[in-house]
Amino acid sequence: MIYDVIIIGAGPAGLAAAIYAGRAQVNGFVLEKMSPGGQVLITDFVENYPGFFEGISGFELVEKFTEHAKKFGMAIENGEVGSIEPVGENLNIHLTDGKTITTKTVIVATGATHKKLGVKGEQELTGRGVSYCATCDGPFFRDQVVAVVGGGDSAVQEAIFMTKFAKKVYLIHRRDELRAIKILQERAFSNDKIEFIWNSTVEEIIGKDQVEGIKLLNKVSGEISTLKVDGVFIFIGIEPTTQFIRGLVDTDERGFIKTDEWMRSSRQGIYAAGDCRKKPLLQIVTAVAEGATAAFAVEHDLE
Ligand SMILES: Cc1cc2nc3c(=O)[nH]c(=O)nc-3n(C[C@H](O)[C@H](O)[C@H](O)COP(=O)(O)OP(=O)(O)OC[C@H]3O[C@@H](n4cnc5c(N)ncnc54)[C@H](O)[C@@H]3O)c2cc1C
Repeated sequence: MIYDVIIIGAGPAGLAAAIYAGRAQVNGFVLEKMSPGGQVLITDFVENYPGFFEGISGFELVEKFTEHAKKFGMAIENGEVGSIEPVGENLNIHLTDGKTITTKTVIVATGATHKKLGVKGEQELTGRGVSYCATCDGPFFRDQVVAVVGGGDSAVQEAIFMTKFAKKVYLIHRRDELRAIKILQERAFSNDKIEFIWNSTVEEIIGKDQVEGIKLLNKVSGEISTLKVDGVFIFIGIEPTTQFIRGLVDTDERGFIKTDEWMRSSRQGIYAAGDCRKKPLLQIVTAVAEGATAAFAVEHDLE
């Protein structure tokens, strides 16, 4: 069987593509390696998605996206794509479990994942106090002291979220000002539980079985200090989940897939949408718009 389209990834981009492709009755389905929802599943609260002016939990929002995609007949199958191989005019999608699916087109909506600090103790203590998801792990740190690393929207938003549980939150940033939008900065600055540690990087995460502290380097004075914390939440940016397609389509130096305005990649039949695509704004609202455009382009090009 040769499908018309396979959508890889069931985050906002993939689910929006599924709504549009399903409604246009394009023959295909969505492949997702985990639960549908992508990064939104680990987002506590979304307050910038149009229509939800009082905000909505990430979980509830993706539940709505998923139901919407299913309503138009798009199945979401469990499977992890390992590689894509062009065969004549078609594409063979090889799953990591050994299965192969043949399709005329693919929409890559595999999003992005958190960057790691790459310091001693990080890997060993992940799940033992080191976390990349405040929504998932925040409640474990009730009345404890945590460090949040980063200075962008995600870091500041999650630091504020952590104040619901932790008795103190250190926000550690390598610069002397935040990158986050003004409204988040104001909320963080007026929150008594948050203390800012500027111009500092985490050099090591200390602990035997559990996080006990972090070693900090002050970039201005060169001073090394130790801070006692029970948890470390890392939000220092993201990298695209595009390893499985590198070399097959054009990407920038960081691996973000380059497309035209129809979401077509440099290779015929392969489209990209969402956080895995090279673009200036990585948000839900842009991901869904690109998913819709990619599905529209697929329908157009198949015709
Ligand atoms: C903590 C945090 C807070 C955020 N807050 C906001 C906010 O308030 N507002 C906002 O607009 N945006 C927010 N964002 C950003 C937003 O979540 C992303 O821009 C959006 O989720 C991107 O959607 P996507 O579909 O492109 O990718 P993702 O959401 O990353 O989804 C990609 C999906 O592809 C799957 N996948 C990856 N590789 C494979 C493979 N090989 N095979 C099969 N499946 C695969 C993944 O499992 C995942 O489900 C936040 C992000 C984070 C991390």
